[in-house]
Amino acid sequence: MPTANPAFGADLEPFHGITTFMRLPASRALEGVDAAIVGVPFDSGASFRSGARFGPRSIREASTMLWGYNRVLDVTPAQALSIVDYGDVSVIPVDIRATMAHITEEVAEILDTGVQVVALGGDHSISLPLLRAHAARFPDLALIHFDAHPDMWDEEFEGQPYSHGTPFRRAVEESLIDPAATVQVGIRGPLSESADIAYPLERGVTVIPIEQALAMGVPGIIERMRGVVGQRPVYVSLDIDAVDPAFAPGTGTPEVGGFSSFQMLQLVRGLRGLNIVGFDLVEVSPPYDHGHITAILAANLAFEFLSLLALRKAGRD
Ligand code: MN
Ligand code: MN
Repeated sequence: MPTANPAFGADLEPFHGITTFMRLPASRALEGVDAAIVGVPFDSGASFRSGARFGPRSIREASTMLWGYNRVLDVTPAQALSIVDYGDVSVIPVDIRATMAHITEEVAEILDTGVQVVALGGDHSISLPLLRAHAARFPDLALIHFDAHPDMWDEEFEGQPYSHGTPFRRAVEESLIDPAATVQVGIRGPLSESADIAYPLERGVTVIPIEQALAMGVPGIIERMRGVVGQRPVYVSLDIDAVDPAFAPGTGTPEVGGFSSFQMLQLVRGLRGLNIVGFDLVEVSPPYDHGHITAILAANLAFEFLSLLALRKAGRD
């Protein structure tokens, strides 16, 4: 136990000190930093149940229980990497366009310092401005997208191009991502009409709906994902509703019949060795959570992702 009384630190008890992700230092001094946890507390793009604006805070709270060592991957991310908790980007709850501009600008500044961003949402609308920032640095991105929903609607609401149901449609239209190097995993749930799933397929996106995913098994899904993205720079976007609501009830648009939390952990671990340049974890909505189980899963998934970055830096891909 420390003799002083620090605000952050792995030597603190989980209930002690200021709540940052994994009790990492809160800092915007990015020199020499490898990765920054960046909260994006915005949920005005949600079409059904809001509340994801409280996601970053809840995930940070749950993350204080993460001890540092990843036994499965044999790595301690906070030792192998310099990681800070950047805090949250500026958002304006009633203005999605202004918020998206803030996100792109602020995240681009972080990326310009060579720091990798681990973004915690927020609803899925935040992925578009995050992709804009990443694509400016890494053109023609590949995309791995875990979700119950394709999020490729044209206009989820009449005349409104931006919402959590449209980010990847816009990303394709803006050529931020290459559809041929895009894979969507875990798609399910009733749709308004069959046309709702047509767009990604027409554009050549690889769609692995849940019934195929579970028939392939985790190793088969991993092999397929890796085949689609190869060694291109890849952005990973993880909507927590890819996981079954029995494991992750705290989300805005739950769909039954999804992955278990263990399968989701395995799928993230399966990204080992890929050239991952960006990551977001979205749609954790604490007002619908129970016993923090969704936030605890989200914190662990972010930890697995940090573990992948640590392995890459250590040359243990
Ligand atoms: Mn989504
Ligand atoms: Mn979803």
